[in-house]
Amino acid sequence: MSKQPSSYLSSKLEGRPKANGSGNGIYSLEPINKGELVAVFGGVVYEWDAFIHLSDRDRSLCIQVEDRHFLVPRPIGEGDYVNHSCNPNAGLSGQIGLVAMRDIKIGEEVCFDYAMCDTMPYDEFECGCGHANCRGKVGGNDWQKPELQKKYAGFFSPHVQRRIDAQRAEHRAFERAASSAKVGGFASAAPTPVYK
Ligand SMILES: [Zn+2]
Repeated sequence: MSKQPSSYLSSKLEGRPKANGSGNGIYSLEPINKGELVAVFGGVVYEWDAFIHLSDRDRSLCIQVEDRHFLVPRPIGEGDYVNHSCNPNAGLSGQIGLVAMRDIKIGEEVCFDYAMCDTMPYDEFECGCGHANCRGKVGGNDWQKPELQKKYAGFFSPHVQRRIDAQRAEHRAFERAASSAKVGGFASAAPTPVYK
């Protein structure tokens, strides 16, 4: 069996332990331009029912790729060390690609926001990203937050984007129904013309 990691990490980055000792991260070795591909995740896909029985480590290293499907790295590589941040410099391109959301300088840790791919409660944690806008707890429903939907427009995984689109369509349908009920109410209250 090949020892090559299932993920790809751009040669402009390296995976290494974080300076504060809290695990690993990926760091830029060269400047990276906005839009540039930094990593592509790979591995084995598990359905939810099997996935929830995997180890904590497997679950924390995976990426959710569909409503009930999860990609777990086999074998693990540096490209799987990408951490969450509430103020990320990278976002998703499709289900498994990671691209720079802005220009990234040498030495920066490259992170994305797990709200871009997560819709299930499989890896909820207290966030220690340290940014002023840190939301504290990272959970499976964070994609529903309007401010995050706006901030990460174009960087959500397709399955999350479908949910956002469905939520918006539902909201619009509700608004239409509410406004037509109003118009109907006024119409029925209006005097009915009588023709002789
Ligand atoms: Zn945070």
